[in-house]
Amino acid sequence: MPEDCIFCQIVAGDIPSKTVYEDDSVFAFLDANPLAPGHTLVIPKSHHETLADLPEDTASDVFSVLHRLTPVVEDAVDADASTVAFNNGEASGQEVPHVHGHIIPRFDDDGGHPIHAIAGSRPDLSDSELDDIADDIRDSR
Ligand code: AMP
Ligand code: ZN
Repeated sequence: MPEDCIFCQIVAGDIPSKTVYEDDSVFAFLDANPLAPGHTLVIPKSHHETLADLPEDTASDVFSVLHRLTPVVEDAVDADASTVAFNNGEASGQEVPHVHGHIIPRFDDDGGHPIHAIAGSRPDLSDSELDDIADDIRDSR
């Protein structure tokens, strides 16, 4: 594990956390600076920086725990909904370079925004540009 990774140190028990879930490959704990009550982070135990770096079986494990925990977190804080998202890479705002999914409980009156609010200026793309992008993705996956 990278010595200076704060989330690896949490998994190792060297830094305390409010743990809410643990299995062989996944760990989940409350965010120390929560955006809402119940704000939870779900991480692979092994160190990988972004989603693309995750082996597929670990990615499945992480998503499976996100899937199971999200309704449990919502219920625990009486949330009306949740935003579940990854800051994936530095340019997206990822500050801790150990991949982590956020479960952020949402409330009818929380004054927050949908994920559409996170991007900067919106591109004005023609239909053929959209076709080219779709082709590139489909051809290289
Ligand atoms: P991100 O910007 O997606 O990298 O988010 C990193 C998150 O980790 C932030 O929401 C921080 O509040 C949270 N965080 C950082 N250090 C700790 C810690 N020691 N325990 C719990 N959460 C942390
Ligand atoms: Zn790490």
